[in-house]
Amino acid sequence: MAALDLDAIRQANPLSAVVGRSVKLARVAGGWMGRCPFHDDRTPSFHVYADDRRFRCFGGSCGVHGDVLDFVQLTDNVDLRGAAQLLAPGDWTAPVQPAAQSRAGSSDRGGAALSIWRDAVPAAGTPAERYLSARGLTIAMPDCIRFARLRYPGGERLPAMVAAVSDVTGKVVAIQRTFLASDGGGKASVPAAKMSLGPVRGNAIHLTPAAETLVITEGFEDGATIHQATKRPCGSRPVRG
Ligand SMILES: [Zn+2]
Repeated sequence: MAALDLDAIRQANPLSAVVGRSVKLARVAGGWMGRCPFHDDRTPSFHVYADDRRFRCFGGSCGVHGDVLDFVQLTDNVDLRGAAQLLAPGDWTAPVQPAAQSRAGSSDRGGAALSIWRDAVPAAGTPAERYLSARGLTIAMPDCIRFARLRYPGGERLPAMVAAVSDVTGKVVAIQRTFLASDGGGKASVPAAKMSLGPVRGNAIHLTPAAETLVITEGFEDGATIHQATKRPCGSRPVRG
């Protein structure tokens, strides 16, 4: 008999405390504000409501929202059960979700990212390649791009382009996921089609081996387009989110 009391878990885990582990929150009228961890947020747009139960991002087209269980699903790439387990370990008796993506806890997002990266396949012939070619990119698929079917937080598995985010030494330390429409013709119609996992700040998607001068773009697709047109070495600074 599963003893998964989601409301008790929500009650026991005030959202500001859980968000506060990874996002610097400031007290404001009506709750808390911080920089959204799901998109590249320069001005704090991520709002935790005063009830300490719900969040919403007001930044651009982001619009990500939900409760503490949604937040953990989004940041830790686990399903609802995985999120409940991370928030209330041992509090319930249902079988543990064995998915590769829930192996790592919130303290090890880089580990979860690497696990997804290792399980992903080369992009050639996959919806990831179709997605890039639909955007006009015809270059051979770079090594930093792979394909996987990943669970969208709170939803089902979707095809996803997985880009490796590397540090200055070229070591993969994080990933950026772009959830795709089933035919790869565009992004999936989900609130946050692009989400990063692991330490992206200060690191980059290296489209080409590091060079003395590197064209840096904000989105991978832009970097690839410039590289295709100019053959200049390119990297992109991943969007957080
Ligand atoms: Zn946002």
